[in-house]
Amino acid sequence: MRQCTATADVQMAPFLFAILAGQARLKSEDFDTYAPDATRCELGLWHEGEHAGFVWDWEHKPQEALWARWTADGAMRFESLAHCEIEGGPDGDACTLYRDHPRDHSWNVVDPEMEAFRRRVLAENAGMLAWLTRKRN
Ligand SMILES: [Zn+2]
Ligand SMILES: [Zn+2]
Repeated sequence: MRQCTATADVQMAPFLFAILAGQARLKSEDFDTYAPDATRCELGLWHEGEHAGFVWDWEHKPQEALWARWTADGAMRFESLAHCEIEGGPDGDACTLYRDHPRDHSWNVVDPEMEAFRRRVLAENAGMLAWLTRKRN
């Protein structure tokens, strides 16, 4: 399943309020380092309801994370959501989305751009990969 293509700018003031509502303190360097300017919807394509992008890991609540939720008209809100954590990826990966998300689990959602990039790298390096994996006599 392909990943939803919706992106949105993160509205900094409401984002900052949402972080401070969820954790008592915030180092400004943490905010500078980890706060994204924009977010990309991580749900599977054609999902119902709002778009959703992970935006913040809580300091003291490892079982939840802060997500930006937005609609096509650009209205954004922030919500702390428990992790989905259902395992089943090719490497036994746990889903990185939130609990009860629509559509497929993250390990079944493919970013078309990343997938195209991966294929191009593989194609461009086919000769080297063959060399690396060749049988040595
Ligand atoms: Zn979406
Ligand atoms: Zn999931």
